[in-house]
Amino acid sequence: MMTGGAWVFYFADAPTLLKNLLTGNASSIAYSTIFVMTSITYLFAGFMREQVCTFMCPWPRIQGAMLDERSLVVTYNDWRGEPRSRHQKKSEVNAQSGDCIDCNQCVVVCPMGIDIRDGQQLECITCALCIDACNGVMDKIGRPQNLISYSTLNDYEANVKGERTKTTWRSFIHGRTVIYSAIMAIAALSLLYVLVMRNQVEVNVLHNRNPIFILLSDGSIRNGYTVKILNKKLQPQEFVISVEGIPGLEMQVAGAETDAQKQVVLEVPANDLESVRLFLRATPSNLKGEQTPFNFIVRNKNDTEKITHEAVFYQPKN
Ligand code: SF4
Ligand code: SF4
Repeated sequence: MMTGGAWVFYFADAPTLLKNLLTGNASSIAYSTIFVMTSITYLFAGFMREQVCTFMCPWPRIQGAMLDERSLVVTYNDWRGEPRSRHQKKSEVNAQSGDCIDCNQCVVVCPMGIDIRDGQQLECITCALCIDACNGVMDKIGRPQNLISYSTLNDYEANVKGERTKTTWRSFIHGRTVIYSAIMAIAALSLLYVLVMRNQVEVNVLHNRNPIFILLSDGSIRNGYTVKILNKKLQPQEFVISVEGIPGLEMQVAGAETDAQKQVVLEVPANDLESVRLFLRATPSNLKGEQTPFNFIVRNKNDTEKITHEAVFYQPKN
């Protein structure tokens, strides 16, 4: 239910939508989307579970392609575990036996249902539950811990040859990890830069499509526009809308019983979007052909912020 809710809240005004959902006033699309997302979550988490990780998630494939002999992975150290000697007590473990007593605890705790003793597998999510389980068993039978451990392939192969090595943090500093870290740092800094430098105001202008223009009785031409202003600041802002680029262009708020204005003031609540429908009127002699470019200028009344948005004024073919 929370997954479905989070999905819908992401695309709408969350507090208002929550109130509408609770009072039964939300749209049917909101209810149906939450229902569908909740059902999918229940199906995935309740029934399919590890099948989702194994067969649907691309991450194991991506991670598998990035592994090399210096990557740290959960490893069963068969060089000390084999041959297995089933259910032996501490006192019964002899020199010929490996440390694995085939108790199956590592398999029982594995959420992916795999046996790490068969080697590194795509399904492994590196949760390390098998390491903890096996360490508990090793403690009980009096053998050293880390029969299953985090290890690199290099260290594993060295151990197989009898060179006792241990993975340290130095193993991870090499060309590949340095390049990956640099790429991630650049990506993170770029995102941070875009976040900090993003415009606090967004202006969008839509030209009325039907009709594109209207010929008025005095010979002038009228075009209609919807100006939308998104205020990303945490305080309400007042914006002054004006136009430039066509001499004598007059502006009027649609539906308002006012004379032509040079500018229109629009108040936008904090973190919200507000729109106004405007009619612009021009004399044909001031226009250049069928499409005349001009600009909407949106100024913040409280500071020097100024946004210019290009638009086009249409007139009929001569
Ligand atoms: S938990 Fe350890 S000892 Fe038991 S089967 Fe797994 S690897 Fe062997
Ligand atoms: S690390 Fe987790 S997923 Fe991987 S084998 Fe061990 S218990 Fe299973």
